[in-house]
Amino acid sequence: MSRAFNFSAGPAALPAAVLSRVQDEMLEWKGERASVMEVSHRGQAFIDCAAEAERDLRELMGVPDDYAVLFLQGGATTLAALLPLNLAGPDATADYVLTGHWGEKALENAKPSIRTNIAASSKTGGYRSITPPSEWQLTPGAAYVHYTPNETIHGVEFGFIPDTGSTPLVADFSSSLLSQPVDVSRFGVIYGGAQKNLGPAGITIVIVRKDLLGRHGRNLPPIFELVNQASNDSMFNTPPTFSWYVVGLVLKWLKEQGGAVAIGERNARKSELLYASIDGSGGFYRNDVAVDCRSRMNVPFVLPDAALDKPFLKGAEAAGLLGLKGHRALGGMRASIYNAMPIEGVQALVDYMADFKRQNG
Ligand SMILES: *Cc1c(COP(=O)(O)O)cnc(C)c1O
Repeated sequence: MSRAFNFSAGPAALPAAVLSRVQDEMLEWKGERASVMEVSHRGQAFIDCAAEAERDLRELMGVPDDYAVLFLQGGATTLAALLPLNLAGPDATADYVLTGHWGEKALENAKPSIRTNIAASSKTGGYRSITPPSEWQLTPGAAYVHYTPNETIHGVEFGFIPDTGSTPLVADFSSSLLSQPVDVSRFGVIYGGAQKNLGPAGITIVIVRKDLLGRHGRNLPPIFELVNQASNDSMFNTPPTFSWYVVGLVLKWLKEQGGAVAIGERNARKSELLYASIDGSGGFYRNDVAVDCRSRMNVPFVLPDAALDKPFLKGAEAAGLLGLKGHRALGGMRASIYNAMPIEGVQALVDYMADFKRQNG
């Protein structure tokens, strides 16, 4: 048996070194004579493990002290619904900038709880570009502006952080967490599921400026109050302990890789290699996203004829390249090349694509 290169969009590849460590510690963790899954989240061993993960995340991302870092259940989708409840009252307005599927979903999850305004949308163009901020119709006095720095399905990524003045920026970083350095102080909230860049499914990371919480004036069930999670180190109820532990190991691995700067440079090289092979294929492979907003994490591409999709995927699997089938909404292929994908994996994909083109072009 041999592990293949896994291009799955999420849950996605984890570093092999992390999985081996999990395997080593599966039966007995940290001298607890039990696995990490079997001990209390209130015990010192887990509290230490949780705190270390938070420290490493803060260090890797340069999170300022006036931000809380939460490790929650529910996924990005639940947070897309909880954040509107936690950031303002029902009569406030929130602006949404839509550049793909996940922005739309965040908007739908906000609508029951707050007035919403679509400040910009590139839907009519098939979500292949980003509306320039100069054209955004922002609401004066909005509670926040929500956007998706990397749209996982459409493969559209912001190469800049929008300037919304004093209006807090709320960003769904699910598919780009810690994929490059980011200035956290520019954001009100950064949130995302771990299952793309940082760990297994089941844990959601929220980095939130503390002064934004607890001021909404709503009568929320205590478990929906993020301020309760913030003041209880994300242990207001049982946290996803196993996922939290694995995220901690991935964060250690990221530090060994050289941190956000090094991982960002590696991710840039990987995506440049793949886009160069698509663009240099004489039109055999095509990615239609505007060049200045192509994603470094998710690279969708189509073949000249959809009838070639099946043979392409079959040959890819035989060559040890998994998870390349595109999202059902778009068809074609998608290569997700998150932090854990080594450049060798991208090189193997590029080599396979060239071979396949020679045989079918
Ligand atoms: C995967 C993804 C989601 C959905 O995350 P869940 O954890 O399934 O709720 C939301 N937003 C983005 C940008 C994603 O990539």
